[in-house]
Amino acid sequence: MARESDGPLPKVSNPLSTPVWAGGYFLPMDFSIPESLAPKLEAARTFLREEIIPVEPDMLGSSDFYAVEPKLNELRVAVKAQGLWLPQGPTDVGGLGLSVLEHGLMSEVLGYSPLGHYVFGCQAPDAGNLEILHQYGSKEQKERWLGPLASGEIRSCFSMTEPDTPGSNPTELACAAVKDGDDYVINGHKWFTTGADGAAFAIVMAVTNPEAPKHGRASQIIVPTDTPGFELVRNIPVMGHAGSGWASHAELRYENCRVPHKNLLGGEGAGFLIAQERLGPGRIHHCMRWLGICERAFDLMCQRATSRKIDGDKPLASKQTIRNWIAESRAEINAARLAVLDAAWRIDRVGFAQARVEISLIKFHVADVMMRVVDRAIQTHGALGITSDTVLSFFYVHERGARIYDGPDEVHKASVARRILRAYEEKAT
Ligand SMILES: Cc1cc2nc3c(=O)[nH]c(=O)nc-3n(C[C@H](O)[C@H](O)[C@H](O)COP(=O)(O)OP(=O)(O)OC[C@H]3O[C@@H](n4cnc5c(N)ncnc54)[C@H](O)[C@@H]3O)c2cc1C
Repeated sequence: MARESDGPLPKVSNPLSTPVWAGGYFLPMDFSIPESLAPKLEAARTFLREEIIPVEPDMLGSSDFYAVEPKLNELRVAVKAQGLWLPQGPTDVGGLGLSVLEHGLMSEVLGYSPLGHYVFGCQAPDAGNLEILHQYGSKEQKERWLGPLASGEIRSCFSMTEPDTPGSNPTELACAAVKDGDDYVINGHKWFTTGADGAAFAIVMAVTNPEAPKHGRASQIIVPTDTPGFELVRNIPVMGHAGSGWASHAELRYENCRVPHKNLLGGEGAGFLIAQERLGPGRIHHCMRWLGICERAFDLMCQRATSRKIDGDKPLASKQTIRNWIAESRAEINAARLAVLDAAWRIDRVGFAQARVEISLIKFHVADVMMRVVDRAIQTHGALGITSDTVLSFFYVHERGARIYDGPDEVHKASVARRILRAYEEKAT
């Protein structure tokens, strides 16, 4: 398999061999799994089935993260002992340093259970926060926050979206951080800050210069959650489940919340730049996890179809409708998987900036496939499908947000079309 060290692929001169919008890069994908990764994938798969899936029922019924946290911490220790901790994390902070494609393959394995990513240390939002701290954090910030975050000793959250401004257009943020001596004083109202409950710090997106051009107005600032003025108003009920701990989304208020200037991450006004850096990998990580969810739902659908007798001795699987759902789901998952791996492969070779179309494509497409597959699996289970006796209802409730977070479908579709059409317009002139 080609690696980053092989350098970028050459541009091809024959315009027929690559679409106009693809920037002239011809990227034949290599489907082989790296030799060093294969045993890790196998070990992760075994661990997931033998150690993680048996713990699921404790969480699925109540969404009580704290009820399962001690057990999950034990499992984390075991994952570390097997050398599988922090798959996407850089090696200098104790991670496996997997490439995007390699992490994609790992993430698919872990996504099979809602607890997989947490137990292996690569759950959102910590994975994204870890990446930006690693890239933009000062020496002091890294010592205080990055080390403990990478080891799983603490958790973090990312606080950008606000109830009163459009999350799909964050240049309109209202939360403000005003300089006062050596401090920033932050005032604002945020919500859907995932995992704020129990987090040690938040990375807050706040306007530091309202007069700047719109993409230079905001900065990212680290706010320890024990800072006076940081208030967790509530864990927001999502389809009836408020959840807790890492498995929750909080409404927050920052009221005269004072933090030192040195808590600024990157430069002042660099908030959007860093957010883009954070969301690029984040989006592809979500898509990879969703493939694992697709596989779990597909397995459950097929198991139920073959075991449930519906007509005397005849199983549900004898019905043509069910067979169609199975065939359609398989085709959709296979195609989605190739699209995700293609995007990951492209990122590894030519970088995120050259893979924006592919990332946006998979963000809306894979979310849609996942929702369809989970829905068919639920329907196949009948009433059982909407109970908490299988993992399907958990996926249905907690993954509906996939079409909204990190950019709603409509925004990604508009972005894809804009980029593709721009290439044709440039070619026409
Ligand atoms: C489960 C979950 C977890 C989240 N975690 C976090 C987190 O940890 N931190 C954080 O800061 N935020 C988080 N969010 C918030 C998320 O990023 C926002 O909800 C998202 O950006 C959309 O913003 P909004 O909800 O304000 O919708 P709005 O911006 O009000 O948009 C509403 C709808 O309008 C439509 N729309 C918007 N723009 C366009 C357009 N250009 N063209 C056509 N239609 C459009 C879309 O259908 C969209 O769903 C999370 C959200 C969910 C659901």
